[in-house]
Amino acid sequence: MNDSPNIALIMSPAHPQWSEFLNALAGPEFCNFHNNGWNCHGDHRYAKQLLERFDVDVEGSLAYFEENGGYCDCEIVFNVGGPS
Ligand SMILES: [Zn+2]
Repeated sequence: MNDSPNIALIMSPAHPQWSEFLNALAGPEFCNFHNNGWNCHGDHRYAKQLLERFDVDVEGSLAYFEENGGYCDCEIVFNVGGPS
């Protein structure tokens, strides 16, 4: 049995602050997407830092990202953030 976690505690496209989170993650402070590429260290260091600013379950949200193809910071933007 695996009860669904409280949606408000998991940063996901269903969370009211998802676009704010995603824009910040993709923005200059973190992944910094631009014409020539972006920053990513192959882990969740940016997402983790950013999640701590929101009132969410950080570890639970990172687990959600991995379940949805977000194995590192840029993949969260590519795979989790896209329209479903
Ligand atoms: Zn990446």
